[in-house]
Amino acid sequence: MPELLDSPITGSQASHGVQAFIIPGSITDPALHSIAEKVAAGTPLDFDDGMALWNTRDIFSLGMLANAMRQARHGKVAYYNINRHINYSNICALSCKFCEFHRKRGEHGAYEYNLEDIYRIAGEAAAAGATEVHIVGGLHPWLPFSWYIEMLSGLRQRYPQLHLKCFTAIEIDHLARLSKLSVREVLVALREAGLGSMPGGGAEVFDDRVHDEVFKGKLRSDGWMQVHKIAHELGIATNATILYGHVETRAERVRHLIKLRELQDEAPGFQTIIPLSFIPDGSELGHLPGPTGLEDLKMLAISRLMLNNFAHVKAFWIMQTMKLSQVSLDFGVDDLDGTVVWYDITKREGGAGNKHQEQTVQDIRRVIMEAGYIPAERDTLYRRVIRNGAEWSVENT
Ligand code: SF4
Repeated sequence: MPELLDSPITGSQASHGVQAFIIPGSITDPALHSIAEKVAAGTPLDFDDGMALWNTRDIFSLGMLANAMRQARHGKVAYYNINRHINYSNICALSCKFCEFHRKRGEHGAYEYNLEDIYRIAGEAAAAGATEVHIVGGLHPWLPFSWYIEMLSGLRQRYPQLHLKCFTAIEIDHLARLSKLSVREVLVALREAGLGSMPGGGAEVFDDRVHDEVFKGKLRSDGWMQVHKIAHELGIATNATILYGHVETRAERVRHLIKLRELQDEAPGFQTIIPLSFIPDGSELGHLPGPTGLEDLKMLAISRLMLNNFAHVKAFWIMQTMKLSQVSLDFGVDDLDGTVVWYDITKREGGAGNKHQEQTVQDIRRVIMEAGYIPAERDTLYRRVIRNGAEWSVENT
Protein backbone atom coordinates (compact mmCIF):
# COMPACT_ATOMS: atom_id res chain seq x y z
CA MET A 1 0.00 0.00 0.00
CA PRO A 2 1.45 3.42 -0.89
CA GLU A 3 2.46 5.82 1.83
CA LEU A 4 -0.42 8.08 2.84
CA LEU A 5 0.36 11.75 2.52
CA ASP A 6 -1.71 14.26 4.41
CA SER A 7 0.58 17.16 5.19
CA PRO A 8 -0.24 20.86 5.15
CA ILE A 9 0.35 22.39 1.75
CA THR A 10 2.77 25.21 1.28
CA GLY A 11 3.33 26.92 -2.04
CA SER A 12 2.71 25.01 -5.23
CA GLN A 13 4.72 21.92 -4.20
CA ALA A 14 6.05 22.13 -7.75
CA SER A 15 9.69 23.01 -7.43
CA HIS A 16 11.02 21.34 -10.58
CA GLY A 17 10.67 21.82 -14.32
CA VAL A 18 8.94 19.26 -16.54
CA GLN A 19 12.24 17.70 -17.54
CA ALA A 20 12.93 16.56 -13.99
CA PHE A 21 9.94 14.20 -14.19
CA ILE A 22 10.63 12.70 -17.64
CA ILE A 23 12.35 9.30 -17.70
CA PRO A 24 13.53 8.96 -21.35
CA GLY A 25 14.92 5.43 -20.85
CA SER A 26 11.47 4.09 -20.01
CA ILE A 27 9.90 5.07 -23.36
CA THR A 28 9.41 2.00 -25.56
CA ASP A 29 7.52 3.64 -28.46
CA PRO A 30 10.03 5.49 -30.70
CA ALA A 31 7.22 7.84 -31.83
CA LEU A 32 7.15 9.30 -28.32
CA HIS A 33 10.81 10.38 -28.16
CA SER A 34 10.38 13.61 -30.12
CA ILE A 35 7.20 14.32 -28.15
CA ALA A 36 9.12 13.89 -24.89
CA GLU A 37 11.67 16.43 -26.13
CA LYS A 38 8.91 18.92 -26.95
CA VAL A 39 7.24 18.38 -23.57
CA ALA A 40 10.57 18.94 -21.81
CA ALA A 41 11.17 22.12 -23.81
CA GLY A 42 7.64 23.45 -23.29
CA THR A 43 6.94 23.36 -27.04
CA PRO A 44 3.23 22.99 -27.91
CA LEU A 45 2.40 19.63 -29.48
CA ASP A 46 1.00 19.65 -33.02
CA PHE A 47 -1.71 17.57 -34.68
CA ASP A 48 0.67 14.74 -35.65
CA ASP A 49 1.94 14.57 -32.07
CA GLY A 50 -1.64 14.29 -30.84
CA MET A 51 -2.32 11.41 -33.23
CA ALA A 52 0.91 9.66 -32.21
CA LEU A 53 -0.25 9.86 -28.59
CA TRP A 54 -3.59 8.31 -29.52
CA ASN A 55 -1.94 5.58 -31.57
CA THR A 56 0.69 4.55 -29.04
CA ARG A 57 0.46 1.25 -27.18
CA ASP A 58 3.01 2.57 -24.69
CA ILE A 59 0.38 3.71 -22.20
CA PHE A 60 2.83 4.00 -19.31
CA SER A 61 5.05 6.44 -21.20
CA LEU A 62 1.98 8.44 -22.17
CA GLY A 63 1.09 8.61 -18.48
CA MET A 64 4.67 9.45 -17.51
CA LEU A 65 4.79 12.39 -19.95
CA ALA A 66 1.40 13.73 -18.90
CA ASN A 67 2.35 13.35 -15.28
CA ALA A 68 5.63 15.19 -15.84
CA MET A 69 3.64 18.18 -17.01
CA ARG A 70 1.21 17.78 -14.13
CA GLN A 71 3.90 17.44 -11.47
CA ALA A 72 5.86 20.43 -12.75
CA ARG A 73 2.73 22.54 -12.19
CA HIS A 74 1.20 21.05 -9.09
CA GLY A 75 3.72 18.72 -7.50
CA LYS A 76 1.89 15.97 -5.61
CA VAL A 77 -1.14 18.13 -4.89
CA ALA A 78 -4.57 16.94 -6.07
CA TYR A 79 -7.47 19.36 -5.79
CA TYR A 80 -11.11 18.88 -4.86
CA ASN A 81 -13.89 21.18 -3.73
CA ILE A 82 -17.05 21.08 -1.67
CA ASN A 83 -19.74 21.95 -4.14
CA ARG A 84 -23.35 21.35 -5.02
CA HIS A 85 -24.80 20.99 -8.50
CA ILE A 86 -28.24 22.46 -9.19
CA ASN A 87 -29.87 21.59 -12.52
CA TYR A 88 -32.77 24.04 -12.42
CA SER A 89 -34.80 22.48 -15.26
CA ASN A 90 -34.49 19.73 -17.86
CA ILE A 91 -37.01 21.38 -20.19
CA CYS A 92 -35.10 22.16 -23.36
CA ALA A 93 -35.89 23.55 -26.78
CA LEU A 94 -33.31 21.21 -28.33
CA SER A 95 -32.98 17.42 -28.54
CA CYS A 96 -29.29 16.58 -28.77
CA LYS A 97 -28.91 12.88 -29.54
CA PHE A 98 -26.34 12.20 -26.82
CA CYS A 99 -28.50 13.82 -24.12
CA GLU A 100 -30.56 11.72 -21.74
CA PHE A 101 -31.45 14.77 -19.64
CA HIS A 102 -33.72 16.88 -21.84
CA ARG A 103 -37.53 16.74 -21.84
CA LYS A 104 -40.30 18.73 -23.46
CA ARG A 105 -42.80 20.45 -21.19
CA GLY A 106 -45.52 17.99 -20.14
CA GLU A 107 -43.40 15.00 -21.07
CA HIS A 108 -42.90 12.33 -18.41
CA GLY A 109 -39.96 13.32 -16.22
CA ALA A 110 -39.97 17.02 -17.16
CA TYR A 111 -39.31 19.33 -14.22
CA GLU A 112 -38.49 22.91 -13.36
CA TYR A 113 -37.46 24.29 -9.99
CA ASN A 114 -38.90 27.55 -8.81
CA LEU A 115 -36.68 30.17 -7.21
CA GLU A 116 -37.60 29.09 -3.69
CA ASP A 117 -36.48 25.52 -4.53
CA ILE A 118 -33.15 26.85 -5.74
CA TYR A 119 -32.66 29.08 -2.68
CA ARG A 120 -33.47 26.16 -0.38
CA ILE A 121 -31.00 23.82 -2.08
CA ALA A 122 -28.28 26.48 -2.09
CA GLY A 123 -29.03 27.14 1.59
CA GLU A 124 -28.48 23.45 2.39
CA ALA A 125 -25.20 23.59 0.50
CA ALA A 126 -24.05 26.72 2.31
CA ALA A 127 -24.97 25.22 5.69
CA ALA A 128 -22.92 22.13 4.83
CA GLY A 129 -19.89 24.30 4.10
CA ALA A 130 -19.98 24.28 0.29
CA THR A 131 -17.91 26.95 -1.42
CA GLU A 132 -19.66 26.74 -4.79
CA VAL A 133 -22.97 26.04 -6.46
CA HIS A 134 -22.77 24.89 -10.07
CA ILE A 135 -25.98 25.80 -11.87
CA VAL A 136 -26.90 24.68 -15.40
CA GLY A 137 -30.06 23.51 -17.12
CA GLY A 138 -31.76 22.97 -20.46
CA LEU A 139 -32.60 25.78 -22.89
CA HIS A 140 -35.92 26.63 -21.30
CA PRO A 141 -38.17 28.16 -23.97
CA TRP A 142 -40.27 30.40 -21.71
CA LEU A 143 -38.38 31.45 -18.60
CA PRO A 144 -37.60 35.16 -19.09
CA PHE A 145 -34.11 36.59 -18.71
CA SER A 146 -35.30 38.44 -15.60
CA TRP A 147 -35.82 35.03 -13.90
CA TYR A 148 -32.11 34.21 -14.23
CA ILE A 149 -31.12 37.65 -12.95
CA GLU A 150 -33.45 37.24 -9.99
CA MET A 151 -32.05 33.79 -9.28
CA LEU A 152 -28.47 35.06 -9.11
CA SER A 153 -29.21 38.22 -7.15
CA GLY A 154 -31.39 36.24 -4.73
CA LEU A 155 -28.62 33.70 -4.19
CA ARG A 156 -25.99 36.38 -3.72
CA GLN A 157 -28.14 38.22 -1.21
CA ARG A 158 -28.90 35.09 0.82
CA TYR A 159 -25.55 33.28 0.60
CA PRO A 160 -22.81 35.78 -0.26
CA GLN A 161 -20.10 33.23 0.58
CA LEU A 162 -21.17 30.86 -2.23
CA HIS A 163 -19.42 31.22 -5.57
CA LEU A 164 -22.00 31.08 -8.37
CA LYS A 165 -20.60 29.08 -11.29
CA CYS A 166 -23.45 29.15 -13.75
CA PHE A 167 -24.61 28.65 -17.34
CA THR A 168 -22.83 27.05 -20.26
CA ALA A 169 -22.04 29.06 -23.38
CA ILE A 170 -25.11 27.41 -24.93
CA GLU A 171 -27.34 28.86 -22.21
CA ILE A 172 -25.67 32.27 -22.47
CA ASP A 173 -26.34 32.34 -26.21
CA HIS A 174 -29.93 31.24 -25.54
CA LEU A 175 -30.38 34.06 -23.01
CA ALA A 176 -29.01 36.57 -25.51
CA ARG A 177 -31.59 35.48 -28.09
CA LEU A 178 -34.35 35.46 -25.47
CA SER A 179 -33.54 38.92 -24.13
CA LYS A 180 -32.53 40.40 -27.50
CA LEU A 181 -29.32 41.58 -25.84
CA SER A 182 -25.80 40.89 -27.05
CA VAL A 183 -23.77 38.10 -25.42
CA ARG A 184 -21.58 40.76 -23.83
CA GLU A 185 -24.60 42.59 -22.39
CA VAL A 186 -26.00 39.32 -21.03
CA LEU A 187 -22.72 38.43 -19.35
CA VAL A 188 -22.34 41.91 -17.85
CA ALA A 189 -25.89 41.77 -16.47
CA LEU A 190 -25.37 38.27 -15.03
CA ARG A 191 -22.08 39.29 -13.47
CA GLU A 192 -23.69 42.31 -11.85
CA ALA A 193 -26.36 39.97 -10.45
CA GLY A 194 -23.77 37.62 -8.94
CA LEU A 195 -22.28 35.36 -11.62
CA GLY A 196 -18.81 34.34 -10.44
CA SER A 197 -17.58 32.16 -13.29
CA MET A 198 -18.81 29.89 -16.07
CA PRO A 199 -18.56 26.11 -16.42
CA GLY A 200 -17.26 24.58 -19.64
CA GLY A 201 -20.18 22.49 -20.85
CA GLY A 202 -21.73 22.54 -24.29
CA ALA A 203 -18.48 22.43 -26.24
CA GLU A 204 -19.07 18.76 -27.24
CA VAL A 205 -16.72 18.31 -30.24
CA PHE A 206 -15.63 21.28 -32.35
CA ASP A 207 -16.45 19.77 -35.71
CA ASP A 208 -19.30 20.54 -38.10
CA ARG A 209 -19.73 16.89 -39.16
CA VAL A 210 -20.17 15.78 -35.56
CA HIS A 211 -22.34 18.81 -34.83
CA ASP A 212 -24.73 18.06 -37.69
CA GLU A 213 -24.92 14.37 -36.85
CA VAL A 214 -25.41 14.56 -33.10
CA PHE A 215 -26.36 18.03 -31.86
CA LYS A 216 -27.74 19.88 -34.84
CA GLY A 217 -29.50 23.07 -33.79
CA LYS A 218 -27.04 23.72 -31.00
CA LEU A 219 -24.54 26.57 -31.08
CA ARG A 220 -21.61 25.71 -33.36
CA SER A 221 -18.02 25.72 -32.20
CA ASP A 222 -17.31 29.29 -33.34
CA GLY A 223 -20.30 30.51 -31.31
CA TRP A 224 -19.20 28.56 -28.20
CA MET A 225 -15.70 29.98 -28.48
CA GLN A 226 -17.00 33.51 -29.02
CA VAL A 227 -19.02 33.36 -25.78
CA HIS A 228 -15.95 32.20 -23.83
CA LYS A 229 -13.76 34.80 -25.51
CA ILE A 230 -16.12 37.57 -24.44
CA ALA A 231 -16.33 36.14 -20.92
CA HIS A 232 -12.53 36.14 -20.69
CA GLU A 233 -12.37 39.71 -21.99
CA LEU A 234 -14.75 40.65 -19.18
CA GLY A 235 -12.54 38.91 -16.63
CA ILE A 236 -14.96 36.02 -16.09
CA ALA A 237 -13.02 32.77 -15.62
CA THR A 238 -14.39 29.74 -17.46
CA ASN A 239 -13.69 26.04 -17.97
CA ALA A 240 -13.71 23.96 -21.14
CA THR A 241 -14.91 20.46 -21.99
CA ILE A 242 -14.84 17.86 -24.72
CA LEU A 243 -17.55 15.18 -24.84
CA TYR A 244 -15.79 12.14 -26.26
CA GLY A 245 -16.61 8.54 -27.06
CA HIS A 246 -19.64 8.79 -29.38
CA VAL A 247 -19.40 9.40 -33.15
CA GLU A 248 -16.29 11.58 -33.25
CA THR A 249 -12.89 10.40 -34.47
CA ARG A 250 -9.63 10.66 -32.61
CA ALA A 251 -8.44 13.23 -35.16
CA GLU A 252 -11.48 15.38 -34.38
CA ARG A 253 -10.63 15.21 -30.68
CA VAL A 254 -7.09 16.39 -31.36
CA ARG A 255 -8.34 19.31 -33.48
CA HIS A 256 -10.77 20.24 -30.70
CA LEU A 257 -7.94 20.45 -28.17
CA ILE A 258 -5.80 22.54 -30.52
CA LYS A 259 -8.68 25.00 -31.02
CA LEU A 260 -9.03 25.35 -27.26
CA ARG A 261 -5.31 25.98 -26.89
CA GLU A 262 -5.42 28.63 -29.62
CA LEU A 263 -8.34 30.37 -27.94
CA GLN A 264 -6.52 30.31 -24.60
CA ASP A 265 -3.54 31.99 -26.30
CA GLU A 266 -5.78 34.59 -27.91
CA ALA A 267 -8.02 35.35 -24.91
CA PRO A 268 -6.73 33.72 -21.70
CA GLY A 269 -9.30 32.80 -19.08
CA PHE A 270 -9.77 29.03 -19.14
CA GLN A 271 -8.91 27.42 -15.82
CA THR A 272 -9.54 23.74 -16.44
CA ILE A 273 -10.13 21.23 -19.20
CA ILE A 274 -12.74 18.64 -18.24
CA PRO A 275 -12.91 15.73 -20.70
CA LEU A 276 -16.40 14.25 -20.37
CA SER A 277 -16.71 10.53 -21.05
CA PHE A 278 -19.90 9.87 -23.04
CA ILE A 279 -22.47 7.78 -21.12
CA PRO A 280 -24.83 6.22 -23.71
CA ASP A 281 -27.49 4.97 -21.25
CA GLY A 282 -30.93 6.36 -22.04
CA SER A 283 -29.81 8.59 -24.92
CA GLU A 284 -30.65 8.33 -28.62
CA LEU A 285 -27.10 7.02 -29.02
CA GLY A 286 -27.74 4.24 -26.51
CA HIS A 287 -26.66 1.65 -29.07
CA LEU A 288 -23.07 2.92 -28.89
CA PRO A 289 -20.72 1.26 -26.40
CA GLY A 290 -19.14 4.43 -24.97
CA PRO A 291 -15.44 4.79 -24.20
CA THR A 292 -13.43 2.05 -22.49
CA GLY A 293 -11.26 2.70 -19.45
CA LEU A 294 -8.13 2.87 -21.58
CA GLU A 295 -9.74 5.44 -23.86
CA ASP A 296 -10.69 7.49 -20.79
CA LEU A 297 -7.13 7.44 -19.46
CA LYS A 298 -5.70 8.37 -22.84
CA MET A 299 -8.17 11.24 -23.28
CA LEU A 300 -7.21 12.71 -19.91
CA ALA A 301 -3.47 12.30 -20.49
CA ILE A 302 -3.60 13.67 -24.04
CA SER A 303 -5.63 16.65 -22.86
CA ARG A 304 -2.88 17.40 -20.34
CA LEU A 305 -0.19 17.14 -22.98
CA MET A 306 -1.93 19.08 -25.76
CA LEU A 307 -3.16 21.91 -23.52
CA ASN A 308 0.13 23.17 -22.15
CA ASN A 309 -1.45 26.59 -21.54
CA PHE A 310 -4.23 25.24 -19.29
CA ALA A 311 -3.45 25.13 -15.58
CA HIS A 312 -5.69 22.19 -14.65
CA VAL A 313 -7.06 18.88 -15.94
CA LYS A 314 -10.09 17.52 -14.14
CA ALA A 315 -11.48 13.99 -14.03
CA PHE A 316 -15.18 14.47 -13.34
CA TRP A 317 -15.79 11.30 -11.32
CA ILE A 318 -19.44 11.11 -12.35
CA MET A 319 -18.30 10.54 -15.93
CA GLN A 320 -15.07 8.57 -15.51
CA THR A 321 -16.03 6.85 -12.21
CA MET A 322 -14.10 7.55 -9.02
CA LYS A 323 -12.02 4.40 -9.44
CA LEU A 324 -10.64 5.45 -12.81
CA SER A 325 -10.38 9.08 -11.67
CA GLN A 326 -8.09 7.92 -8.89
CA VAL A 327 -5.84 6.13 -11.40
CA SER A 328 -5.90 9.20 -13.66
CA LEU A 329 -3.98 11.17 -11.02
CA ASP A 330 -0.94 9.38 -12.49
CA PHE A 331 -2.02 10.34 -16.03
CA GLY A 332 -1.95 14.13 -15.87
CA VAL A 333 -5.07 14.83 -13.80
CA ASP A 334 -4.75 17.21 -10.84
CA ASP A 335 -8.42 17.80 -9.92
CA LEU A 336 -11.23 15.37 -9.00
CA ASP A 337 -14.08 17.92 -8.83
CA GLY A 338 -16.08 17.69 -5.62
CA THR A 339 -18.92 16.39 -3.53
CA VAL A 340 -21.58 17.23 -6.23
CA VAL A 341 -24.48 15.67 -4.19
CA TRP A 342 -27.13 15.72 -6.95
CA TYR A 343 -26.42 15.57 -10.66
CA ASP A 344 -29.48 15.25 -12.88
CA ILE A 345 -27.82 15.33 -16.28
CA THR A 346 -26.52 11.79 -16.40
CA LYS A 347 -25.75 8.76 -14.29
CA ARG A 348 -23.82 5.60 -15.03
CA GLU A 349 -25.87 2.39 -15.21
CA GLY A 350 -29.12 4.34 -15.34
CA GLY A 351 -30.54 6.64 -12.74
CA ALA A 352 -34.10 5.28 -12.49
CA GLY A 353 -35.09 8.82 -11.56
CA ASN A 354 -32.64 8.96 -8.66
CA LYS A 355 -29.71 11.17 -9.51
CA HIS A 356 -28.31 11.41 -6.00
CA GLN A 357 -24.57 11.19 -6.68
CA GLU A 358 -22.42 12.24 -3.79
CA GLN A 359 -18.89 11.78 -2.58
CA THR A 360 -17.96 12.58 0.98
CA VAL A 361 -14.91 14.70 1.66
CA GLN A 362 -13.38 11.79 3.57
CA ASP A 363 -13.76 9.50 0.57
CA ILE A 364 -12.30 12.02 -1.87
CA ARG A 365 -9.31 12.58 0.41
CA ARG A 366 -8.82 8.85 0.93
CA VAL A 367 -8.84 8.22 -2.82
CA ILE A 368 -6.24 10.94 -3.35
CA MET A 369 -3.98 9.84 -0.48
CA GLU A 370 -4.07 6.17 -1.47
CA ALA A 371 -2.82 7.21 -4.90
CA GLY A 372 0.15 8.92 -3.23
CA TYR A 373 -1.04 12.50 -3.65
CA ILE A 374 -1.78 15.34 -1.24
CA PRO A 375 -5.44 16.39 -1.08
CA ALA A 376 -6.03 20.14 -1.22
CA GLU A 377 -9.44 21.73 -0.93
CA ARG A 378 -9.78 24.60 -3.39
CA ASP A 379 -12.45 27.15 -4.14
CA THR A 380 -13.78 27.67 -7.66
CA LEU A 381 -10.83 29.90 -8.59
CA TYR A 382 -8.27 27.40 -7.22
CA ARG A 383 -7.47 29.32 -4.08
CA ARG A 384 -6.66 27.09 -1.11
CA VAL A 385 -9.50 26.77 1.37
CA ILE A 386 -8.83 26.96 5.09
CA ARG A 387 -11.64 25.07 6.77
CA ASN A 388 -13.08 24.73 10.24
CA GLY A 389 -16.16 22.54 9.84
CA ALA A 390 -18.72 24.41 7.77
CA GLU A 391 -16.77 27.66 8.26
CA TRP A 392 -14.14 28.45 5.68
CA SER A 393 -11.97 31.15 4.19
CA VAL A 394 -9.41 31.25 1.39
CA GLU A 395 -5.69 31.39 1.88
CA ASN A 396 -4.01 34.68 1.05
CA THR A 397 -1.82 34.19 -1.99
S1 SF4 B 1 -27.41 18.76 -24.27
FE1 SF4 B 1 -28.24 20.66 -23.44
S2 SF4 B 1 -29.04 21.75 -25.24
FE2 SF4 B 1 -28.79 19.59 -25.86
S3 SF4 B 1 -30.79 18.65 -25.45
FE3 SF4 B 1 -29.53 18.31 -23.61
S4 SF4 B 1 -30.07 20.01 -22.27
FE4 SF4 B 1 -30.75 20.58 -24.33
